[in-house]
Amino acid sequence: MLIQRGGLKVVAGLGISGVAAVNFLHHQGYRVAVTDSRPTPPGHDQIPAEVETRFGQFDQDLLLSAEEIVISPGLDPKLPEIQAAMAQGIPVVSEIQILRRATDKPIVAITGSNAKSTVTTLIGLMAEQAGKKVAVGGNLGRPALDLIKDDPELYILELSSFQLETTSNLNAEVAVVLNMSEDHLDRHGDMLGYHTAKHRIFQGVKKVVFNRDDALSRPLVPDQTPMQSFGLNAPDLNQYGLLKDDDGSMWLARGRERLLKSTEMYIQGTHNIANALACLALGEAIGLSMHSMLETLKTFKGLEHRCEFVKELHGVRYYNDSKGTNIGATLAALDGLGAAIQAQGGKVAIILGGQGKGQDFTALRQSLQQYAKLAVLIGEDATKIETAVAGTTQLLTADTLQQAVEICQQHTQAHDVVLLSPACASFDMFSGYPERGHKFVAYVNALV
Ligand code: ADP
Repeated sequence: MLIQRGGLKVVAGLGISGVAAVNFLHHQGYRVAVTDSRPTPPGHDQIPAEVETRFGQFDQDLLLSAEEIVISPGLDPKLPEIQAAMAQGIPVVSEIQILRRATDKPIVAITGSNAKSTVTTLIGLMAEQAGKKVAVGGNLGRPALDLIKDDPELYILELSSFQLETTSNLNAEVAVVLNMSEDHLDRHGDMLGYHTAKHRIFQGVKKVVFNRDDALSRPLVPDQTPMQSFGLNAPDLNQYGLLKDDDGSMWLARGRERLLKSTEMYIQGTHNIANALACLALGEAIGLSMHSMLETLKTFKGLEHRCEFVKELHGVRYYNDSKGTNIGATLAALDGLGAAIQAQGGKVAIILGGQGKGQDFTALRQSLQQYAKLAVLIGEDATKIETAVAGTTQLLTADTLQQAVEICQQHTQAHDVVLLSPACASFDMFSGYPERGHKFVAYVNALV
């Protein structure tokens, strides 16, 4: 028999993290209810029978009777039903807040516009291979409140701006905002709102890692907080960076010490060197041995849908960067691959488009002009992109992704690259970026 504790906890929004929140709070002995606007939300059959459910609309009365509302990251706190509860003084918190309250184990906290999943996965592997009992999740993979049952000595969490919006005093052992570029402005209103949400990650932080190439990643924290930087230039003493030899080879370095040649890693592109350096700094902050971290770096193959090499056909290389869902990610892919093939006269045929999330696509102009021979536009915001980048490269539109792949094949030759990196969300045409990426791979594999 569980002991009944406190007042009512209402979980708003079910889905993967909502299910974990309901189950965790129920297991802790709280009275729990859940409400969701969908009549049969995903996960409705994965929660205990005693939990009160109100589906089909957000139940205002239920929300107003809560002692605390646990909001799913997919829900906007600006929803009128949530605002009404906040106006009554009812706290609205993320599931990350519940985790912080439930454990005093150290948390490595990672956010940024891009590279979160890559860095979270890599530092997770580094910690594991260095012998730590670690639980990895959050915005990536397993939801945060599911991780508690592993009873880890250390949590490594990927956090989105949505989760951070409703998280206070995370008190992370070490935290990083990897980079900042426009994203989710449809939800955060403007860059300032987005920046403010992301930087909540530093509340109460013990150590900071920041990107010295991106001023917006650097936090305002008390002077005595230890800070370590990474960047793609020669590092100062005790910082992480890049040293270049006369023959053009690049070394990951700490101060003047050369640690690893970039060609010893599978992951490609300078953006991935930055990611590796960020992991070394995070790993140092939690006491991982350098030797062990470098061994992990030599074996890490990268993640699917992130500049993933698909195949080479008639001398043209095809890359799936379906996770390139914002301009910052697409620029990293286009610049990284474009610069690599430039010497042999190769150019990029890029597939762009989908749901633009309010971004300003003129930011793509310079890179398109420099590296692209063609951009094929698809999806809801194709016309918006066309207007923003007109005159930079040849622009064509396609009704389907398959058609776009075929157009790219027709316009490319040996040394060129075909790149799916849409700078947009995919929900107008697909269930998400994984489906978009898998379809792209299938269409590429069907080419002859
Ligand atoms: P997130 O979890 O933040 O979305 P991912 O690791 O899944 O990050 O990568 C998302 C996209 O960002 C991919 O298209 C990837 O190629 C690109 N990317 C990876 N690292 C960086 C970086 N350091 N800067 C910019 N873009 C990056």
